[in-house]
Amino acid sequence: CGIVGYIGGQQAAPLLLEGLGRLEHRGYDSAGVAVLGGTGLRVAKQAGRVRDLGEQLPKRFAGKVGVGHTRWATHGPANDVNAHPHTDAAGEVAVVHNGIIDNAAALRRRLADDGVELVSDTDTEVLAHLVAGSDADTLEGKVRDALAAIEGTYGIAVLHAAFPDRIVVARNGSPLIIGVGEKEMHVASDLAALVRYTTTVAHLDDGELATLTATGFTTYREDLSTTDKAAHTVDVDP
Ligand code: GLU
Repeated sequence: CGIVGYIGGQQAAPLLLEGLGRLEHRGYDSAGVAVLGGTGLRVAKQAGRVRDLGEQLPKRFAGKVGVGHTRWATHGPANDVNAHPHTDAAGEVAVVHNGIIDNAAALRRRLADDGVELVSDTDTEVLAHLVAGSDADTLEGKVRDALAAIEGTYGIAVLHAAFPDRIVVARNGSPLIIGVGEKEMHVASDLAALVRYTTTVAHLDDGELATLTATGFTTYREDLSTTDKAAHTVDVDP
């Protein structure tokens, strides 16, 4: 339903919670955030309101890169386990996803045959395991490999503890907008979550991936050749 992401010089968790609050009007049943910091990847997620998630969040949820999600359940009931972000077995990869993976049942069976333990009922969880299982050397390559296996619609944002300097995002049928800040980058599924921080934005197209670092962004086609997408300024009513 709603996606936010942040990488830069500030603590990510408060910014992510604030951004999720601005997506609340879209409706949702669960909320969660994942943050990468000195102690690795940490995830907090639960059924219920963004405000409740914020109150439950440990004080020391430190890290300057993170992603957040509000879920509108399509695969599996609204409960804490099914809330996003979803992670791999090692707890290194975190994925938030808007949309529907049509071949999730087949992928779940294939992963289970390979000995992967699936903990949620969601279609999204397969993405975290597919990213973790890719042999590619880069996070962009791992995400490309995972997306090559799935059919369906997605806006996704991916964190990986082995690649703490970036967020990789991708879009097919579910909007994602990159927001360019001062030595920081944002991403969201809705302009409403960005305009408080920046009006310099770039809209991803279907079939595009992008890497966000603290200093900029790069967009790619599915074969990871770059698309030279430039950001532009949007007018927003004050
Ligand atoms: N299909 C995913 C799920 O049910 C994502 C739903 C959404 O877009 O929020 O968890």
